[in-house]
Amino acid sequence: MQQMQTDVLIIGAGAVGTGIARDLALRGVSSVVVERGDINSGASGGNHGLLHSGGRYVAGDVHSARECREENELLKRLAPQCIEECGGLYVAVAGDDERYIADFPGWCEAAGIQTQSVAPADARSMEPALSENLIAAYTLPDASLDPFRLSLENLAHAKALAGSILLTRTAVDGFELDRGRIARVHLKDMVRGETRTVEVSQVINAAGAWAGRVAGLVNSRVGASIPLLCSQGTLLVTHDRLSERVIHRLRTPGDGDILVPGGTVSILGTTSVTIPDPDLARPSVREVDVNLTNGAEMAPILASTRYVRAYCGVRPLLADDGSSEADRDGRSASRGFLLFDHENVGLGNFCSVVGGKLTTYRLMAEKTVDLVCGRLGNNAACRTRDEPLPVMDACSWTEPGRSAKVWVMGHASDDEILCECELVSASAVDGLLQDCRDIFPDPDLQLLGKRSRIGKGACQGAFCGLRVASHLYDTGALSSRRGLGAMRGFFQERFKGQRPILWGAQMVQSELAEALHCGLLGLEFPAPESPEVELSHE
Ligand SMILES: Cc1cc2nc3c(=O)[nH]c(=O)nc-3n(C[C@H](O)[C@H](O)[C@H](O)COP(=O)(O)OP(=O)(O)OC[C@H]3O[C@@H](n4cnc5c(N)ncnc54)[C@H](O)[C@@H]3O)c2cc1C
Repeated sequence: MQQMQTDVLIIGAGAVGTGIARDLALRGVSSVVVERGDINSGASGGNHGLLHSGGRYVAGDVHSARECREENELLKRLAPQCIEECGGLYVAVAGDDERYIADFPGWCEAAGIQTQSVAPADARSMEPALSENLIAAYTLPDASLDPFRLSLENLAHAKALAGSILLTRTAVDGFELDRGRIARVHLKDMVRGETRTVEVSQVINAAGAWAGRVAGLVNSRVGASIPLLCSQGTLLVTHDRLSERVIHRLRTPGDGDILVPGGTVSILGTTSVTIPDPDLARPSVREVDVNLTNGAEMAPILASTRYVRAYCGVRPLLADDGSSEADRDGRSASRGFLLFDHENVGLGNFCSVVGGKLTTYRLMAEKTVDLVCGRLGNNAACRTRDEPLPVMDACSWTEPGRSAKVWVMGHASDDEILCECELVSASAVDGLLQDCRDIFPDPDLQLLGKRSRIGKGACQGAFCGLRVASHLYDTGALSSRRGLGAMRGFFQERFKGQRPILWGAQMVQSELAEALHCGLLGLEFPAPESPEVELSHE
């Protein structure tokens, strides 16, 4: 069993865990981040990418609205490379609650959020996709946020400043207590099954929707417990970008009422379905239908446009927020966050941070690190309010349309394009692999997909999955049958998102992919027992 030691162990590499690693590093503290999947495997990789202005919460949760507004302003200033300042339009259509519409500007003012009324005809000329039935519109300072770039850059900065480490595909599966403290944490390698132990001073549970399960692993006298409600939300990705701005329905938050631009595409969402276990999250056909029906009321094109994929995430909502059983469907639970210090069960070196928003991840990290640094006797102040997040070149391939710009600006004549939908070149793939060598010794298509746009276009990996795998074989990064296994995992993940949206052009695309992957590679057959078996060169 391997042994390691760290001052702070962070469980979960979502926006919050990676934000905590950077905040600690800016205060001179190195950490180990343990993640059972890859970076942003949870809600941070399955959300809308909306940098909230706070407008969504003004009616029911003014505290969260103010938090969002403040963090929105900070992030626009400190991490502009992760944000597209597209602005937002909140729109109501005939039949929507007129009292809500009339009260909206006053609620925004109370939360300090800037709004401006726009005549429905002007709103339609700003956003031609909007319905002819518009009855009111307001501009708000919403924006679009790239959560992958954000988390990657937070981690890269933590590594550069303090040598912090990310252990991917490694799950926490037990704690060892000694005199009322967590002395050691047991980790399990999710691929090889090997175990290792880390000696720790402080442990931070930032496991999102899994935080309750992680807390439950602590076998203390009373037991650390966190009352969480798992609320699945499904989102749809359109083939084209349908609006310049975030389009938001001006009504009590519901399903299918937000359309967020994500570079070259738009993202429609989201539902709210309570599920018993976050591992069971899958986008469903019913949720796709609900999003389409509601979304089309504000932007009719949503009923007929091509969708390339659906995906979902699980909100870690606090179940014990005082709301009645009747309205506990996840929508009414607080979007605020809670920091549990676990001192009530005698654990002075363990804390959990849950709830909140992607938009408020920095604030969540700040409050958590204030607690942990206090426990470590470190009185350095938080610097993430003023210190810009450095631009890291290796993290920039998540930006939609970036590859095209690089291609136009100049490229080597022998630099092949491997992903045609998103124009990702062979040199970009080589650069990404080089950058991840220390955390991913074995090249993996899913790793590349998380750090670039590979597989995100209309073909959903049908062609680029094959081309990238071939390139990895050509350059010696892959050998034996391991490439087939990597492709199988990659295509299965893409198909999970395509399955609920299979009609029209995307159905045709998917049938072509099936013919290629099954007809050419036989990927429908079970994986060989040993992927290391050499391929025949006959
Ligand atoms: C559908 C949907 C849409 C949303 N839209 C928005 C939006 O537009 N704007 C916004 O501001 N917020 C949005 N949110 C909320 C936002 O996504 C979350 O609040 C935020 O991403 C939570 O981040 P996190 O780091 O706390 O959790 P997560 O991102 O879930 O990270 C937890 C990590 O812990 C890991 N983990 C779990 N168990 C273990 C273990 N035993 N060992 C090691 N690792 C473990 C998981 O793999 C995961 O990667 C949305 C959420 C959902 C679900």
